[in-house]
Amino acid sequence: RASASMQPVPPEGQNDLPVHGVTNTVVGVLGGGQLGKMLCQAASQMGVKMVILDPLENCPASSLCHEHVVGSFNDGDTVSGFAKRCGVLTVEIEHVDAVTLAKLEKQGIDCEPKASTIMIIQDKYRQKTHFSNFGIPLPDFMEVDTLSSIEKAGEMFGYPLMVKSKRLAYDGRGNAVAHDEKELSSVVASLGGFEHGLYVERWTSFVKELSVIVARSRDGSTICYPVVETIHKDNICHVVEAPAEVPDKIKKLATNVAEKAIKSLEGAGVFAVELFLTQDDQVLLNEVAPRPHNSGHHTIEACYTSQYEQHLRAILGLPLGDPSMKAPAAIMYNILGEDEGEAGFTLAHQLIERALGIPGASVHWYAKPEMRKQRKMGHITIVGPSKFSVKARLDKLLQRDVYDPEKV
Ligand code: ATP
Ligand code: MG
Ligand code: MG
Repeated sequence: RASASMQPVPPEGQNDLPVHGVTNTVVGVLGGGQLGKMLCQAASQMGVKMVILDPLENCPASSLCHEHVVGSFNDGDTVSGFAKRCGVLTVEIEHVDAVTLAKLEKQGIDCEPKASTIMIIQDKYRQKTHFSNFGIPLPDFMEVDTLSSIEKAGEMFGYPLMVKSKRLAYDGRGNAVAHDEKELSSVVASLGGFEHGLYVERWTSFVKELSVIVARSRDGSTICYPVVETIHKDNICHVVEAPAEVPDKIKKLATNVAEKAIKSLEGAGVFAVELFLTQDDQVLLNEVAPRPHNSGHHTIEACYTSQYEQHLRAILGLPLGDPSMKAPAAIMYNILGEDEGEAGFTLAHQLIERALGIPGASVHWYAKPEMRKQRKMGHITIVGPSKFSVKARLDKLLQRDVYDPEKV
């Protein structure tokens, strides 16, 4: 691996040489966080060359990629220069310069998924409008740009009212809940005011949150991973149970909603569809990620083809792999920073040490340069012969008696 400057390099994948291994195409990834790192791990197994664009010198993917270009995925010139190195360009984060991606596509650069998809998804209000126009069920929502418009939304949707930033949201940053009309102005202020773009959603008192990873090949065919349940803590994904414990008809419904949503978007790759299951058995779309996702980490150990390998297969035009589970059950636990600095590292290390003694447990440590509270630092996946056994093993790992999702 070498950190590279920005001089153009001939795209190695676009020559007439015979193919050695699975492909000659060089994959460029915007972003080098944990998702980029796990994409590089899958690429390494198949001998696929990965180049990464990330501003952080020691980002998680930097130690595993073929080449790391240190630079911003939000700067048009940097992204354009980077694209010239790649046979196909993809993302591990949606908050990238999508306008430049659209220009690059016009110049013949192969972006997967397409710039249009990134543009729709990176603005959550635009995303909701898009899916609503396409007939996908979702919670009621409304754009708000003044105090009187948000008060009106509160009257229409009632309280609690979910207020969301349109852009740059992740891990619940960008979401705030107003419990009554009096809280509206402070909630709006906490999200930086109306200037940056806000919208509201009707509160959904879901019984479960579900997720479906959908892979789409370059020819448009789709394949879905088994439905999983995601359990959030303070708006951050914390535990994923695979498969989800819901009736078959709910699995079918969730898969249908997810597949239909992804069919409305352009381009190849894996997509995650976050869903709410309501008391009256409706499945509503929360949001879509145009890339591998936290709710698919377990696929590395639990499925025949991981979401990371699947993403590479999809964007490279290779046949899609089998998404089904090779173990009866899996559970994924996110290692979130519990404290800043050394104190946080010590706590995480204690957890990892215990995990190494649990049967079927695999430890993933992202090697992020800084430990911060609530930051995703790594994850642990436990696979086993039954749902009961993986839950019991997680209890042991977390040193608690009875599995209780509320307490994770
Ligand atoms: P991510 O890290 O998944 O990108 P995000 O910051 O984009 O998260 P959302 O997915 O919009 O945030 O919301 C985070 C969590 O907040 C959801 O998983 C869910 O638990 C809760 N939530 C979101 N919208 C609603 C809603 N309308 N009603 C009730 N709870 C909600
Ligand atoms: Mg999101
Ligand atoms: Mg989300």
